[in-house]
Amino acid sequence: MLNLQQFVQEIYAKRIEDCTNEELYYALLSLTQRASGALSTNSQKKKVYYISAEFLIGKLLSNNLINLGLYADVKEQLSEAGKDLIQIEDVEMEPSLGNGGLGRLAACFLDSIASLGLNGDGVGLNYHFGLFQQLFEDNQQKAVPNPWITPESWLKPSKISYEVPFANFTLTSKLYDIDVPGYKTKTKNRLRLFDLGSVDDNIVYDGIEFDKQDIFRNLTLFLYPDDSNREGELLRIFQQYFMVSNAAQLLIDEALAKGSNLYDLPDYAVVQINDTHPSLVIPELIRLLTERGIDFDQAVEIVSRMTAYTNHTILAEALEKWPLRFLEEVVPHLVPIIIELDRRVKETHADPSLAIIDEYGRVHMAHMDMHYSFSVNGVAALHTEILKTSELKPFYDLYPEKFNNKTNGITFRRWLMHANPRLANYLDELLGHGYHHKASELEKFLDYKGNPETRAKLEKIKQHNKRKLKAHLEASQGISVNPDAIFDIQIKRMHEYKRQQMNVLYVINKYLDIKAGNIPSTPLTVFFGGKAAPAYTIAQDIIHLILALSQLIANDPEVAPHLQVVMIENYNVTAASFLIPAADISEQISLASKEASGTGNMKFMLNGALTLGTDDGANVEIHELVGSDNIYIFGEDSQTVIDAYDNQSYNAREFYERPNIKPLIDFIVSDAVRHYGNDDRLYRLHNELINKDWFMTLLDLETYIETKEQMLKGYEDRDTWLDKVIVNIAKAGFFSSDRTIEDYNRDIWKLETAK
Ligand SMILES: *Cc1c(COP(=O)(O)O)cnc(C)c1O
Repeated sequence: MLNLQQFVQEIYAKRIEDCTNEELYYALLSLTQRASGALSTNSQKKKVYYISAEFLIGKLLSNNLINLGLYADVKEQLSEAGKDLIQIEDVEMEPSLGNGGLGRLAACFLDSIASLGLNGDGVGLNYHFGLFQQLFEDNQQKAVPNPWITPESWLKPSKISYEVPFANFTLTSKLYDIDVPGYKTKTKNRLRLFDLGSVDDNIVYDGIEFDKQDIFRNLTLFLYPDDSNREGELLRIFQQYFMVSNAAQLLIDEALAKGSNLYDLPDYAVVQINDTHPSLVIPELIRLLTERGIDFDQAVEIVSRMTAYTNHTILAEALEKWPLRFLEEVVPHLVPIIIELDRRVKETHADPSLAIIDEYGRVHMAHMDMHYSFSVNGVAALHTEILKTSELKPFYDLYPEKFNNKTNGITFRRWLMHANPRLANYLDELLGHGYHHKASELEKFLDYKGNPETRAKLEKIKQHNKRKLKAHLEASQGISVNPDAIFDIQIKRMHEYKRQQMNVLYVINKYLDIKAGNIPSTPLTVFFGGKAAPAYTIAQDIIHLILALSQLIANDPEVAPHLQVVMIENYNVTAASFLIPAADISEQISLASKEASGTGNMKFMLNGALTLGTDDGANVEIHELVGSDNIYIFGEDSQTVIDAYDNQSYNAREFYERPNIKPLIDFIVSDAVRHYGNDDRLYRLHNELINKDWFMTLLDLETYIETKEQMLKGYEDRDTWLDKVIVNIAKAGFFSSDRTIEDYNRDIWKLETAK
């Protein structure tokens, strides 16, 4: 039995009651480190190396306590001393090692791999300033560095270091590890983050500007440095090669230590390539094997048997294509290998769409992955089907046996037990603990549909979570929200395909409706949160419009009591864990065919929000699981959208001219909004929506507004609404990342579990 009082006494020579939250945080950090340090590292022969540019792990204190089985004890002993774990967690900096869903997925996977007792590490880079921190100034996004590394942290320096050769110099890496304890397991894995000792945090000026050519000082400063120019693209190649060369050397060393003769490397290691950023691991492994005396043909064969590729997007602009001459400049020693891999493809396949190097001399990273790995997976059923039938069809026709689907998932440890302890406790009370290890057992909750006590309890939990969010927002952003309002939430990276702009047009519609005297029965609070890439102008314009509207509405006494718009500053995992449990409406409104999966949709469902969404990504699977009565689906389907692109038949202006739509769009440049906004941004966005609208906002706008109105009306019938909530929670078990990882392991990795 843990005695926190004694532990704190030993460190600080005082009682918990007399410690600051900061002192308690560092005491708990050390306690947790010690507990996970005592776990043995998984050591089965075969191991998965999950290589990813991003690991959006979030704060670790509570989750590690949960997995180590210490959480309830610690929370109780703190509270006996009048201390609140939520406030202590506030001291921890959130690691800024990811951008969005792809990075969060990697983090959920690490948790599930460890919790299932599988041997697998994450491998990535230790970015000192992460993506960037988002501030709002003059109703616009401002990007500044996000320093998250403190002198004492979860990072443990290791003795491991590798030489990574580039064209004109060699860099020496330094490896840091973060322990990944499994949920109530005796073993742990690690997140391995490579860094460079010479990186200099002081070269950053004016927001997030720095000398892109000073590789020695800048290599691991930022995730996704702006690559809208040549120096930026080169820097990304430097980073990617640094990541994969280290990963490849690490996995070879670990296999050798276990007795591999390298010819049998696939018995020791399997590499999951998370999106195309780690794709250079394929030629790098081939290079390292040939350097160790294995002939080229054999090296290609060995590497192809141990690498697997996950595709995360069908947006053509997001599939990386590096000019061969850039690779020549950064990693000339890989170029002959890539050329030979491409030559072999071209020798056997005449179709130019299968080539690795295209006619413009660009290297298609995804093509290299698909030819030279043994598995290609999409991340939701619809996404995988679209890959097979349109985006990657030539590859599917060639290698049907390589293609498989792995529908994404989320870890319930973070997104239920930590984010929503009241709901977790209630489910424990009703269903027992079985669902902790077997999430499908959540289905037993269906028995409580129609139960008045359960409805009342869920209502109470939601109310509590709304108040918890309110307190968090007051402290973090100085914003006050009405906990009796309907909480309608859209939080995700800012991107036109996710269509935050369509939600904004709904808000304008509601604003005008209230001005016309139609007062809603229950007030509505619309939350947005998300970062926009610094080079993505239209996404920044959308943030600007949201902030301007938010101010306009707050200052209008006729409307403010009934409608509020909140833009969350610096949306991250911490913010998500306050927002999601408080949500009534989960906005998942991407243009059908464009959202590969989404995982936010799963977190909301698990926490008792109902989905307002298109039949896109994993929404399709949510829809199938809960049935049409328990979800609000609208909009054109993916095939219609794909055809509209093929025929170029979408014309935004035709929609704009409709009498229901024109006033909403034109309101963007009304005097009322311009009073709070910047003309350049507002007119640019207005023009974009009318004359281009590449992601077809206006196509679904009218049915979106109608469906949302129905949903708000549905909210008023509390019993029916709460029964829908029960069905959603009960059916969320499928989206446990434990299930996803079991699928990966059964079909791709084939690892043995810990004994
Ligand atoms: C889950 C999550 C995402 C992904 O959200 P989507 O709605 O699936 O795009 C992005 N960022 C954070 C912080 C998350 O927790």
